[in-house]
Amino acid sequence: MNLVDLFKKKKPVISFEIFPPKLDTPIESIFGTLEQFKELKPDFISVTYGAGGSAKDRTIEIASKIKNEYGIESMAHLTCVGHSKEEIDALLTSMREHNLENILALRGDPPANQPDFDFSNNAFKYANELIAHVRKQNRNDFCIAAAAYVEGHVNSKRLKDDLLYLKQKVDTGVDFLVTQLFFDNRLFYDFLDKTASIGITCPITPGIMPIFKADQIKRITYLCGASIPAKLVIMMDKYGDNDEDMRKAGIEYASNQIRDLIDNGVDGIHLLTMNRPKSTREILTNIGLLK
Ligand SMILES: Cc1cc2nc3c(=O)[nH]c(=O)nc-3n(C[C@H](O)[C@H](O)[C@H](O)COP(=O)(O)OP(=O)(O)OC[C@H]3O[C@@H](n4cnc5c(N)ncnc54)[C@H](O)[C@@H]3O)c2cc1C
Repeated sequence: MNLVDLFKKKKPVISFEIFPPKLDTPIESIFGTLEQFKELKPDFISVTYGAGGSAKDRTIEIASKIKNEYGIESMAHLTCVGHSKEEIDALLTSMREHNLENILALRGDPPANQPDFDFSNNAFKYANELIAHVRKQNRNDFCIAAAAYVEGHVNSKRLKDDLLYLKQKVDTGVDFLVTQLFFDNRLFYDFLDKTASIGITCPITPGIMPIFKADQIKRITYLCGASIPAKLVIMMDKYGDNDEDMRKAGIEYASNQIRDLIDNGVDGIHLLTMNRPKSTREILTNIGLLK
């Protein structure tokens, strides 16, 4: 199913994000996890694309399994980092051969250990160039999602410019947006006002990541620049030394965030599951979506 049609029919659309196992681990190691996610009946599952294209075949293989074997709609992330046009075309062809209809089209992060990576050497420097390429090839059969940044992209010098580039990206042919994680819903509501004011009308589904460990939050905010509200700092101070207490507090925090978002009529909830079905189940139960 083309996911944009789902957003027209259902609110909120509940989706999970998972990542493929590392290359030194057999791909089968994720199948048991997928079985458990299947029981939670998400509307779709998205599969990330390893930085620098390291696990590209795994992304397609797992997205295909989710759709064709488990009967759950899937979305494959696709980044431009280090890829020629021909490689991107081969990946798109492979996706179609696997019956995949939904892509999250991204520029991507620099490959590991190459923080100064020069994106100008890519066939597509920005995500909107990748999106234009897919659309130009008359690939209107693909539903294309793109990334949005509630607090601005980490590399962006001015938030205003980031929003204008987002609008340009959407106008190039984006069907819906998935946001970077955030911990303060007020920032998301402000972001919705700003995007509406510049004429972005496609569905915007918020990315929510439960915090399971105190050190996880430092790494994540370093990578994506999300700000940490005081109540999250207090929570980490209180529970950070005990893994199980911290996990429970993180689940409670994410559940409260999601309840408030749903009460405010959001288009969807995109849960960054960290491949943890048990915690995902607890969140869905807390918010009343599972018995
Ligand atoms: C929901 C979500 C899922 C993700 N999944 C993955 C994944 O699976 N694999 C992975 O490697 N990464 C993933 N990322 C991270 C993402 O690849 C990085 O944040 C990356 O740095 C930017 O990708 P983008 O597609 O948003 O880039 P772009 O939209 O190209 O933007 C990148 C930067 O360039 C600026 N910019 C855009 N257009 C122009 C222009 N025309 N001129 C000048 N500046 C411009 C933007 O303001 C921004 O600062 C994900 C991010 C999100 C939010």
